[in-house]
Amino acid sequence: MPIIRTGEPTKQRGRHVRRRVLLLGGTGEARSLAALLDGHPGLDVISSLAGRTTGVRPPPGRTRVGGFGGPDELRAWLENERIDAVIDATHPFAARMTASAAIATAEAGVPMLLLRRPGWTAGPGDDWSRVSSLEAAATSLPGERVFLTTGRTSVAAFAADTRRWFLIRSVEAPAPPIPPHAHVLLDKGPFEVEDEIGLMRRHAIDVLVTKDSGGEMTAAKLIAARRLGLPVVMVDRPPAPGVPTVAAVEDAVAWLLGPEITRS
Ligand code: NAP
Repeated sequence: MPIIRTGEPTKQRGRHVRRRVLLLGGTGEARSLAALLDGHPGLDVISSLAGRTTGVRPPPGRTRVGGFGGPDELRAWLENERIDAVIDATHPFAARMTASAAIATAEAGVPMLLLRRPGWTAGPGDDWSRVSSLEAAATSLPGERVFLTTGRTSVAAFAADTRRWFLIRSVEAPAPPIPPHAHVLLDKGPFEVEDEIGLMRRHAIDVLVTKDSGGEMTAAKLIAARRLGLPVVMVDRPPAPGVPTVAAVEDAVAWLLGPEITRS
């Protein structure tokens, strides 16, 4: 089992060898990590984006865009690019990419780290119901005027609801179909608590639906719902693969620059 040391550039046949890292991105954490690693003398980092969102500022350093084509193709890509380590810093709900990376890295014998921000936890005064899927959320709404913040590709799960009214907030226009009684608000975080309270009051919202994305950028709506005494339907995260996992960008740097990464 060869040992790959990433802390310092190693010498091979008299020249320095840079360790090659694939950073799966699409999140603020991935961007921060790319910025921290950019220019490190021992590392050659390639950030990867799905390329679905328009107008995204590319992360610092080298970037590639677009899907790999599935686990087999990703494995071939890792081998062709001679990748030494993969950090998956995708969104907690980007389950297909994460599953694909777990399979491809296991088969290629490349170490993988999951950088995953913690989920949200209910506190005193919160009235949350946790559900396992968007479909379950759609069939268990305790109100009539719904603030739907589950993302543009998640709206279709609610499209058959012809009775309720939806305020749909997403960064880009939601993918059809959407519910017949709806107002679409294109906006992106960070959001402030007072603004969220004002928005929910203006639209007479009586239930908030969100995915358990975690993080500070979009947490204000949860505080607003608590202050207004509104119920929250929280869609649980999909299960994560059993690979080493850290919550903080600094811990991902420590893993990458640690004493050794073992490649099988
Ligand atoms: P997904 O369902 O897991 O991904 C669908 C497919 O898109 C994957 O199978 C993969 O294609 C490709 N893909 C996803 N992330 C990629 C990456 N970083 N680099 C290259 N290809 C990638 O993910 P999703 O929910 O559509 O999210 C897409 C991207 O948006 C992710 O990078 C994620 O971090 C970001 N994002 C997602 C959410 C969310 O709520 N889901 C929120 C914010 C940001 P192949 O199978 O062909 O390789």
